[in-house]
Amino acid sequence: MKELQEYLEENHIKAFHGRQIFRWIYDKRINDFDLMTDLSKNLIAKLKEDFTISPLTVKDRQISKDGTQKFLFELEDKALVESVLMIFDYGFSACLSSQVGCNMGCSFCASGLLKKQRDLTSGEIVSQALMIQKQLDEDGERLGNIVVMGTGEPFDNYDNVMRAMNILNDPYGLQIGSRHISISTCGIVPGIRRFAKENLQYNLAISLHAPNDELRSSLMPVNKAYPLPVLFDALKEYSTLNNRRLTFEYLLLKGINDSRKEADEIRDLLKGLNAYINLIPYNKVSEKDFETSDDENALRFYDLLKKNGVAVTLRQKKGDDIDAACGQLRANHIK
Ligand code: SAH
Repeated sequence: MKELQEYLEENHIKAFHGRQIFRWIYDKRINDFDLMTDLSKNLIAKLKEDFTISPLTVKDRQISKDGTQKFLFELEDKALVESVLMIFDYGFSACLSSQVGCNMGCSFCASGLLKKQRDLTSGEIVSQALMIQKQLDEDGERLGNIVVMGTGEPFDNYDNVMRAMNILNDPYGLQIGSRHISISTCGIVPGIRRFAKENLQYNLAISLHAPNDELRSSLMPVNKAYPLPVLFDALKEYSTLNNRRLTFEYLLLKGINDSRKEADEIRDLLKGLNAYINLIPYNKVSEKDFETSDDENALRFYDLLKKNGVAVTLRQKKGDDIDAACGQLRANHIK
């Protein structure tokens, strides 16, 4: 809204039109300037000259038995992105993509099967949420939570992601509370440091997946650029500057990162940080050899962490009967 307000001021257009435009787009979910009936013809012409509202086209939609819905959207240049709608006891949550493809190259992830083509614009990121809200409108439901955990690395597209979150959070936007917005990074340290200083109220999640440099570098190439000591230095800075609890995501990879050794290393790594670790079942990707830990082993690992005094949660499986792994639906379509 602030940016739109600045644009209006520069163009000598009255400020209240900003609220009208936001109301059309975010309350009435109208994506055509011509349908904004309380704007003058002149203003509509001017807006069309300077902006495009580029709606996404739904290319595919899969619905899982547990209610998880996966959307494949086509962008104006025909690029494909995917988003997921999940149902939790605290409400509906949308998982949004931040880039077309991904360059981080994590060895277990389907997104990296296709290299990054380009960053998503803030409009394209916002539109994913709007399209999902439109779907929920059919049942009179409201999207209450956003996670930027789809394809792409948000801190490799920092400005557009933050701009999109600010719009979704705006009182005239979808009004998604800042504490209901989470951004997940594989550990891009300059991005973390910038985020720490900007004092935004969004939650920060770190994809940890391994508690020592040797294992983490073998799974996540980003760890070679920003090894754990460097990463945790930045996270300590974040914790000092922000009074917010950090989330660590930890994929349960069978026989790779789910033994007592890793549980002890996690305890040492997280000591003193205001943080918890979320254990996540791995969604099978057919091109990769990784398997998720057996239920029994997952529980054992969870218990070991608890005994170690680590704040830990175990995520329920979602949508594992559809192509729900990051980038999987898109990769399967492009194939
Ligand atoms: N690049 C960011 C955000 C996108 S990935 C990041 O790395 O955090 C979002 C999360 O999904 C990451 O924790 C990622 O490691 C995880 N992920 C990737 N492939 C997965 C799979 N097959 N099953 C479950 N989680 C997966």
